[in-house]
Amino acid sequence: MPDISSAYNWTANNNHNVRLFARATIVSGRHVTENSPQMSQWLNRVSIAANSTDMVLQTRPMSGANWSAVNPAVSITQAQLLAFVNFINQNSYDDQAHRGVLTNATWRGFYNVAPRALVYVDHAGAPAGPPGPLPDTVPCYDCWLVHTLDNISIDHQRPIGGNPYEAICKVFRALGLTRGTVQGPKGAHFQAIHMAAVGGVASVSTAKADKYTLNTRGEIYYSLFFHRNMLQELAIACMNHIINLRPLCNGCNTPNRNTSHYP
Ligand SMILES: [Zn+2]
Repeated sequence: MPDISSAYNWTANNNHNVRLFARATIVSGRHVTENSPQMSQWLNRVSIAANSTDMVLQTRPMSGANWSAVNPAVSITQAQLLAFVNFINQNSYDDQAHRGVLTNATWRGFYNVAPRALVYVDHAGAPAGPPGPLPDTVPCYDCWLVHTLDNISIDHQRPIGGNPYEAICKVFRALGLTRGTVQGPKGAHFQAIHMAAVGGVASVSTAKADKYTLNTRGEIYYSLFFHRNMLQELAIACMNHIINLRPLCNGCNTPNRNTSHYP
């Protein structure tokens, strides 16, 4: 599994020092922008004050010298960061190992994996039993036909080879960290369980641009990974996260079915 915990450890292991890093954003699922402290016109940053572990979004007028918390104030606590890192780490897989999701208890629960009686017919055309205990099965998420786990394909909803920011936004959205709301039952399911723990906030916007744009809390998290030079690790983890993986039969999982999101 990918491990993004060093982003967290960096915060936990640097006690008492003021830490400042640039605010990085995803806009419309396409761009990373940065308010770089190396640039004279920087206006936004993430700050961790001395003797604190809270990440606070700050702003400064173009011509001013004094930084202050954005209004309304936005911050992420160390406990929220730990919850975020754990949710990613415990539910994501490496690029070539995403079928590991078949053993993920959370994923299995959401997609109704269970032992089920299937129809077997022997070579003579007579009804036959399964060669052992009832197999674990899962319904295809599109057509509902039940398959054994060996015979189901795992679909990346935001596809590999597509824009990696889309998968990041999809996972962030399920945590209340984008400007747009979740619309499917899966996003709603995970928001209800995990959003509060990471400090996410519910949205009502259904605009596509908002679904793929981080809100200010999402920007704080994203800025940390940007600063730590860990965007690739984050992207792989989100691409192969339970939020982005669903069971489809081979008939439903047609090539390029998901690639037309941004024509
Ligand atoms: Zn199907």
